[in-house]
Amino acid sequence: MKLKINEAITCIEDEDLYKVQHDLKNGALVLQKMIDDRIKTIENQKRQFCAVCGNDLKGKESTFTLMFGPDDFRRKGSFCEIDCLEYFVNTHIKQIKQ
Ligand SMILES: [Zn+2]
Repeated sequence: MKLKINEAITCIEDEDLYKVQHDLKNGALVLQKMIDDRIKTIENQKRQFCAVCGNDLKGKESTFTLMFGPDDFRRKGSFCEIDCLEYFVNTHIKQIKQ
């Protein structure tokens, strides 16, 4: 189940909510580490389908993955073949750059 941040806050146990409040008042180092770890896990997950042609990637041993975008809004695309990666770069990434 995916929650929006305001929904997640309402679901936090009272004790943990006080811990989060304390952490925020002290520089949010614990919260920052938790979010960094979660983002690292998300970024390491293998995508299920090619972003260009939609081929199933679960059974493929070799795929291509591209991380792009600014540091605060990283995006990720996985591709079944180098041709799909090249097509994506030529049609999407070069447009973003212009
Ligand atoms: Zn593909």
